[in-house]
Amino acid sequence: MSAPNGALAEIQARKNAAAHAWQRNTEDITLIAVSKTFDAEAIRPVLDAGQRHFGENRVQEAQKKWPSLKADYDAIQLHLLGPLQSNKVKEAVALFDVIHSLDRAKLATALAAEQDKMASTASAGFPSLFIQVNTGAEPQKAGVLPQEAPAFIDMCRALGLPIIGLMCIPPVDEAPAPHFALLANLARASGVTGLSMGMSDDFEIAIAQGATHIRVGRALFGERPTATL
Ligand SMILES: *Cc1c(COP(=O)(O)O)cnc(C)c1O
Repeated sequence: MSAPNGALAEIQARKNAAAHAWQRNTEDITLIAVSKTFDAEAIRPVLDAGQRHFGENRVQEAQKKWPSLKADYDAIQLHLLGPLQSNKVKEAVALFDVIHSLDRAKLATALAAEQDKMASTASAGFPSLFIQVNTGAEPQKAGVLPQEAPAFIDMCRALGLPIIGLMCIPPVDEAPAPHFALLANLARASGVTGLSMGMSDDFEIAIAQGATHIRVGRALFGERPTATL
């Protein structure tokens, strides 16, 4: 039985309306509830309301919360949204179903090595991958530069990695639409279909630009303590 959750119902209604406005199927757009910084007790009501896709930024934080929640609820899909260090690949692959932050050759090589290791054992599925693109070419931000994206996508494919899409986080002080459009163009040019883009403040704009995965935190869970952003 599912218990309604007001914030979740509102996001779903806005997602449905945006999909309708742009003549898209809302089922083709996955809502990822970004639960970083929130503990298991804050997450349970959203699970009780039927939400199954969740996003986290840190491997260690997710390892603390999710094993017990996964024991209590079926069919949870966990998405890693934050930067991944090569030495955390094994743990990330074991816990997450989708990784959105593949952003450099060293990480691609480490992921491919882990995938090869798993293929030789009977372990569970390897996560699907999004390549993060730094559409604003911001020096402090992760992601491959737009002009490097086609070659990086080719390299990841040559390694045999399951690339399902591209992801971006637009600069905070710019209109997001041109960044979403750039990501969509890069994906189309490389024959990649997934687009992980749009957050609490701009997910409707991302849906207009073709987002297949929207990542919504604050609008669902409330404000996060700023120190842990
Ligand atoms: C925190 C975070 C989100 C969610 O952001 P909100 O503004 O809370 O919706 C989405 N994507 C990434 C990569 C994040 O780090």
